[in-house]
Amino acid sequence: MKYHLVTLGCQMNISDSGRVKAYIEHLGYQPTDNPHEADLLGVIACSVRQKAIDKVYNLIAVWNRQKGSRPFTTFLTGCILPDDREKFLKTFDMVFDMRDLTKFAEMLAVHTHEGTYYPRLSREEQAYQMDYFWKLEGRQPDKFEAFVPIQNGCDKFCTYCAVPYTRGREVSRSSEEILEEVKCLVSNGFKSITLLGQNVNSYGLDKKGNEITFAQLLELIGRYGDQSGKEFYVYFTSPHPRDMTDDVLHTIAKYRCLGKWIHIPIQSGDNEMLKRMNRKYDIDRYRSVIQSIRTILPTATIFTDIIVGFTGETEEEFANTRAAVKEFKYNMAFIAMYSPRPGAVSAKWADDVPKDEKSRRYAVLSDDLKSVSSLYTASMVGKEFRILVNGHDRLDGYLSGLTEGKIAVRFKCDDESLIGNFVNVKIVKSSDFSAEGEML
Ligand code: SF4
Repeated sequence: MKYHLVTLGCQMNISDSGRVKAYIEHLGYQPTDNPHEADLLGVIACSVRQKAIDKVYNLIAVWNRQKGSRPFTTFLTGCILPDDREKFLKTFDMVFDMRDLTKFAEMLAVHTHEGTYYPRLSREEQAYQMDYFWKLEGRQPDKFEAFVPIQNGCDKFCTYCAVPYTRGREVSRSSEEILEEVKCLVSNGFKSITLLGQNVNSYGLDKKGNEITFAQLLELIGRYGDQSGKEFYVYFTSPHPRDMTDDVLHTIAKYRCLGKWIHIPIQSGDNEMLKRMNRKYDIDRYRSVIQSIRTILPTATIFTDIIVGFTGETEEEFANTRAAVKEFKYNMAFIAMYSPRPGAVSAKWADDVPKDEKSRRYAVLSDDLKSVSSLYTASMVGKEFRILVNGHDRLDGYLSGLTEGKIAVRFKCDDESLIGNFVNVKIVKSSDFSAEGEML
């Protein structure tokens, strides 16, 4: 028996797919890249983006053309909005909530058309379901880079985002389980581990005193890192600026294995816009977080997320975002041109910044970003960095890797055995976001 699985979406979807694969293989299925020979065809999707929804429809249309010529079962899971679920049930054999993976064998046996779904679970019920899910063995997408879920769902309700409606309220995973998974990954040779959650620094708060805080979780991991004597980095994404506290930063400063890389989404540099986005902080609060990072973690690189062209964004509001990029001197920003996400509050609002204007703002902000990120990469020249080699560079005869702060560095070398290992490199050249070095 064979299965073919397509994963669309973010790192969380990719992390979820590791558990789905392990579970399906445990049932006796073998993976195949060829959908035409699969007995089980599945999609793990993020239905909050129209593009992803279109892709799912295209996939299932192609697969369903084979129906009648051979037997197979199709399923869909992931971040599915309630309205989309009803539509998808007309084309997939099974549509179910990720938390229900443990009942997959049962669903498959009766080949139910309904699957199960819990649109209105309480936080306690969600926690119960998630505990089962997290206990399942995970499969990592890589041999040296791993993702560890520490939390599911979100309580923030940003107006442009549908996550609280697809993944539910924040539920934290047990710290013991997280630590065990990290230890297991490190002993299996993983060198870069990212703790995943929609709002990681509110980790544990949903347990109302019965779980440690995010800073304490990092402390446990940091202590283990020191005791293990192994070289690896642990990162996390994403924290929320409102909940970022200095104790988290002090803990990162204390331990070598806690990567000096902070991804802290700003989304906009304008207070009125932040209110419309329901981000729950203003630019002064955000500035104080950046100042703490610069003071407590002076070597840290800072990445961010920004949306341009959100509903009603004026030229002045955009100018404030440009000013923020220049002030905070990001090493990288993932800039998105706003598009309404079905299910999010803002989907009911006018998408009133014309597409051409969004593209213009995107290009202008990308140039601003280059002007600040290149200051950092230029400052790397002449210095030595430890690099985790992650593969071949686009340039023939070169390998590439990431510094502790996730800056891409390429260096001339064709020894493939270095992939997945750390090497020392002296930087000789820099570009806007990356650098070139010589192996020492
Ligand atoms: S964008 Fe806002 S609502 Fe969406 S996951 Fe992040 S913090 Fe939660």
